[in-house]
Amino acid sequence: MVVAQVSPPEVADAGARFLAEVNSKTAGVSHLDMCIQCGSCGGSCPSASAMDHTPRGLFALIRAGKRDEVIRSNTPWMCLSCYHCVVRCPQEIAITDVMYAIKVIAEKEHTYPNNVGPDFAGVFIGQARRFGRSWEIGLTARHYLHHFILRLPGMTPMAFGLFRHGRIGILPHRIQGRKQLQAILRRADELERAR
Ligand code: SF4
Ligand code: SF4
Repeated sequence: MVVAQVSPPEVADAGARFLAEVNSKTAGVSHLDMCIQCGSCGGSCPSASAMDHTPRGLFALIRAGKRDEVIRSNTPWMCLSCYHCVVRCPQEIAITDVMYAIKVIAEKEHTYPNNVGPDFAGVFIGQARRFGRSWEIGLTARHYLHHFILRLPGMTPMAFGLFRHGRIGILPHRIQGRKQLQAILRRADELERAR
């Protein structure tokens, strides 16, 4: 006989509260309450082995109200925003956007596991504001010099290969319409502050 597991009311309340908080920070509709815990997201994720919880596990923790565990998890910071999980999720859950929502909470409360992810995001958005896009060589060099200096020599052959094939440039490339993009980013900042 299968016995249905029923959460105690306080766990259900904490889960509902945290779910509502994550939803309020997610751009658009998360559909997180529709997660059926099938695990397709974790099975599709190229970063799953580096995460302390798979996306499925993280969403189970959200629904269990384990707020502290979630906002201290490295999982959102390991997310590459590749959207592979989103394409495969049978419930159309906005997994990548939920990862960003958790990062927003963790940044505000300084609960991220280390400053590698926030620092990378800060440099990336700084370049987007300045050039309108990322400057891969500058971003990578700065990131490795600050955080993984011993791994820098190992990256050099790949950088040369990308450069030889015209995939990256030595100097930053500036897009046209930077002023419009900067206005959009300023507005996004305003909306974020108002949340
Ligand atoms: S693939 Fe979608 S429904 Fe399945 S566990 Fe992941 S988020 Fe939940
Ligand atoms: S978007 Fe993030 S969580 Fe989803 S498969 Fe890609 S790396 Fe994994």
